[in-house]
Amino acid sequence: MPRPHHAVDSPGNAQLEAAECALCGANDPAPGGYTFPPYRVVRCNRCDLWYTSPRLAEEAMLAAYAEDSYFEGAEGPGYSSYRAQEATLRTTFRKLLRDLAGRGIEGDRLLEVGCAYGFFLDEARSHFSYRAGTDYSAGAAAKARDFADTVYLGGLDEIPKAERFDLIACIHVIEHIYHPRPFVEQLFERLNPGGWIFLACPDMGGFWRPLMGKRWPFFKLPEHVTYFTRPTLTRLLETAGCDRVEALPYASYFSLDLIAEKLGRRAPGGVADRQLRLPGTTVACAGRKPA
Ligand SMILES: [Zn+2]
Repeated sequence: MPRPHHAVDSPGNAQLEAAECALCGANDPAPGGYTFPPYRVVRCNRCDLWYTSPRLAEEAMLAAYAEDSYFEGAEGPGYSSYRAQEATLRTTFRKLLRDLAGRGIEGDRLLEVGCAYGFFLDEARSHFSYRAGTDYSAGAAAKARDFADTVYLGGLDEIPKAERFDLIACIHVIEHIYHPRPFVEQLFERLNPGGWIFLACPDMGGFWRPLMGKRWPFFKLPEHVTYFTRPTLTRLLETAGCDRVEALPYASYFSLDLIAEKLGRRAPGGVADRQLRLPGTTVACAGRKPA
């Protein structure tokens, strides 16, 4: 996903908004949570969804996503370089596609929402005969066009209404979505009967978050507005109408130099591009539209 920095350097009060729980609609945050001034990440007392409130207003956030600087050269958290992660992302995606195929989740038509540079679409070449993507960044969409049949600049609304897909994948996207329930309902409408939605995002229920506390690298403010666990991600898919929801393994590979960077260190020379598989970083679920 594109990344903001201009919009977030010093958001004025007019750009901040209080949020309700995006899963159950309650305004009942539990005491505590994590504070990253001026933002706060809180847990809903009713349904256990974690979400950012106050948060940056959606309009300010979307303006930042359209900037090409989101993917490269960012200082601070986020993508110092998305391109530099190509090898590890491709390893992650190949493993994921094998796991999906192993569950019978493949077919003719694939859509990836938030496709970034298109590495997943490229790796999916042998699994799907037609591969389409969307992204809000013109620079990213241009790169992804090398790897896909069609790449739309923008969101779901850019895709012709009659288009249907067998798999719609959103990888590290749902945590950016301000209204995830209507978003997933729209994905559901775009599925062929028996088709699948696949969602993967940082695992708020994994062991890294309590271990690292506020230093957990997936606390990316303001762009991450919801934080899912396996139960809340499952409920999101069920609420949209999925009749079957499966949790999938998601093995994230990272280069040693990126891990070192997150820890504020430098990787020793010669092994910086070594790929390590880190468990517990990402939660992933697939939900099926009734056949
Ligand atoms: Zn709730």
